[in-house]
Amino acid sequence: MSKSSSDSKDFLRTIVEQDLKSSKYAEVVTRFPPEPNGFPHIGHAKSICINFGIADDYAGHCNLRMDDTNPTTEDTKYVEALKDAIEWLGFEWEGNVRFTSDYFPKIYDYAVELIKMGKAYVDSTDEEEMRELRGTVKEAGRRSKYAERSIEENLDLFEKMKNGEFKDGEHVLRAKIDMTAANMKMRDPLLYRIRHAHHFRAGDAWCIYPMYDFAHGLSDYIEGVSHSICTLEFENNRDIYNWVLDTLGLTLPRPYQHEFARLGINYTVMSKRKLLELVDGGQVSGWDDPRLPTIAGYKRRGYTPESILSFCDGIGIAKANSMVDVAQLEFSIRDDLNTKVPRVMCVLDPLKVTIGNYEGSEELDASYYPDDVPKEGSRILPFSKEIYIERDDFMENPPKDYFRLTPKQAVRLKHAYIITFKEVIKDADGKIVEIKAVYHPESKSGLDTSGIKVKSAIQWVEAKTAKRVEVRLYDRLFKEEAPEGVEDINPDSLKVIKNALIEPAVITDKPDVRFQFERQGYFYADPIDYTDEKPVFNKIVGLKDSWNKKEKKKAKESTSKSQEKKVQIDGEVVPMSEVQQKLYDKYTTELGLNSEVANTLARDETLSNFYYESLNLSEPSPNPVGLANMVSNEVARELKEKSLDALKFNPIQIGALTKMVENEIISSKIAKQVFEEMVKTGENPTQIVEDKGLVQISDPSKIAPIIDEVMEKNPDNVAKFRAGNTKLLGFFVGQVLKATGGKANPKVVNTLVNEKLK
Ligand code: ATP
Ligand code: MG
Repeated sequence: MSKSSSDSKDFLRTIVEQDLKSSKYAEVVTRFPPEPNGFPHIGHAKSICINFGIADDYAGHCNLRMDDTNPTTEDTKYVEALKDAIEWLGFEWEGNVRFTSDYFPKIYDYAVELIKMGKAYVDSTDEEEMRELRGTVKEAGRRSKYAERSIEENLDLFEKMKNGEFKDGEHVLRAKIDMTAANMKMRDPLLYRIRHAHHFRAGDAWCIYPMYDFAHGLSDYIEGVSHSICTLEFENNRDIYNWVLDTLGLTLPRPYQHEFARLGINYTVMSKRKLLELVDGGQVSGWDDPRLPTIAGYKRRGYTPESILSFCDGIGIAKANSMVDVAQLEFSIRDDLNTKVPRVMCVLDPLKVTIGNYEGSEELDASYYPDDVPKEGSRILPFSKEIYIERDDFMENPPKDYFRLTPKQAVRLKHAYIITFKEVIKDADGKIVEIKAVYHPESKSGLDTSGIKVKSAIQWVEAKTAKRVEVRLYDRLFKEEAPEGVEDINPDSLKVIKNALIEPAVITDKPDVRFQFERQGYFYADPIDYTDEKPVFNKIVGLKDSWNKKEKKKAKESTSKSQEKKVQIDGEVVPMSEVQQKLYDKYTTELGLNSEVANTLARDETLSNFYYESLNLSEPSPNPVGLANMVSNEVARELKEKSLDALKFNPIQIGALTKMVENEIISSKIAKQVFEEMVKTGENPTQIVEDKGLVQISDPSKIAPIIDEVMEKNPDNVAKFRAGNTKLLGFFVGQVLKATGGKANPKVVNTLVNEKLK
């Protein structure tokens, strides 16, 4: 399989080719450098594909290095998960797994060398003062008085730091670069800090740990890396990367850093920290929960490595961050499985059908693949007078375009016969419990001479031979396109069907099998819970993009969001003009916006003017990051449909709205509601909040009784939670938020619910 099938080269491969051509390097050496503080996610898969893919393409090699400089968050279980993920994706790292901690002695020596050159000093300023002295984007910083220390004193102090003679935070080692540098990162960055903590590999050997910026470039150099590829948020760190290597006189073949755009996917959160919150909070069943964007999650759900690789390949490598539509990933897996996996029949909500005129039983030969799939194979499908069909494949009073079984309309049983309705049997409550039907002997599939017209073929299973199975229907974990947290969890992201019925051929003792369940989707035998007694199948993905439909409906109602999405998916990035680039730089370096938001604002003059006015005219001025989010999402959406003059709200009001979220007067959810009101009326946000009583409820004594009420109403779920089903936490939080119309402070709710359910 080709790992870089696209014909046109991406910018990274272009750089690599030039460097080989000019003999800058004899061999391409890359590395994948995760911090082992969580399970890898699909963003990491992207980075893995790039680093290993480039090494493969140019006959070089790629190292796997654990960037383990932070003793308090790292663990071997994460190291194992990272190794698993890379192997599963089909890549091989060069030699042993490497660890930055193995280089601690060398990195220490380099630090001593810098001190001897007068290029590093021990600073004993406390944290707060240090922050003040750093200055701001508009103001130069000032050097700490400790920078005057002599080389001897610095050497002595640094050694004592290493020997554990000081407490955490008492001193740090800093590079002596430039306190007036425009790039704030260059204002005497920290190189080492004291941490009396046990390291999962180095044990207690060290109580000083190098900072990322110091350790990373040196580790690259020590390993002989040529191209150090990382994501855009490290753009400003590149200057330090170069300073460290240049100052130490480390020459070619020394590595150089190159940045690409981080992968973001909608309806998904993607940072190990956020994923850890979901795992620890019990919102999911673990790091390998099939709803998570972790590699372990995709693997368990039934995604194939090929589908992930083709997804990563298809989205390309960009220099500007963008949001990829999760539908594209779903397309990749569908596309991969469509012609690969056998099609079988499973009934999720069984309704009994008795075929009055059928006697005995027979075994039908049913092919696994439709005619247009170049694959052969078939199985035996038992048939008799008692079968089960899907409950919603029968309707007593159907609407006009209903094509399945009705009192007046016959239907084909896939691979078998056409049946016609005779009678419906109901229980005392009026619920349908059985259908009586007749079959048409001359309508056998493939040999049909009956002349009966039907509009569809439905799945079914034979009653005696069918096997009871559990089916887990997974859907997107978040219902919001840009989820913020637990309150955006999709309550229907997992539905467990305990009593589905499946045809006998599907029951298998082979692990790692996937099927298409006719008309339902693609399914995978759960690698952990599947047993002979209780087979369990996970839904990998549906047959079509059902969200797209929902989205279109939403889009009709409100905005042209999906249009915006289309433009973004498209991997192609139009270069920025000089002015736009300047704005972009200002946004990312001075104001701290992430590159995605900065990109949206910088490329849109109206929007950036709006932002600018909002930031400068609002009093008190809101946090630039929060404001940018508000402008690039809410305001941008309005401006897509209307001209600036037609807006009823103004920049100052948007500033005030942002400030209210910042001060936790309202939640960000309520802010959206307030914004909608501002769109309609142009009223001031403070006024709207007051009139409608939308102030966020953070007082635990107000929230507690609501939780009690929710618990009282749902005793079953309380019992289930206490019996260990901690997944229900999300349910309770959701109910409480709902009961308060979204006004309760989600953080407080989460904590309280957790306490009460203990
Ligand atoms: P997270 O924020 O999820 O913890 P990280 O960047 O801190 O991610 P690392 O373990 O430091 O995670 O990352 C290892 C490598 O994977 C880095 O080179 C990083 O740039 C890359 N990487 C991480 N997330 C993404 C992403 N979303 N898209 C592309 N590459 C990523
Ligand atoms: Mg990180």
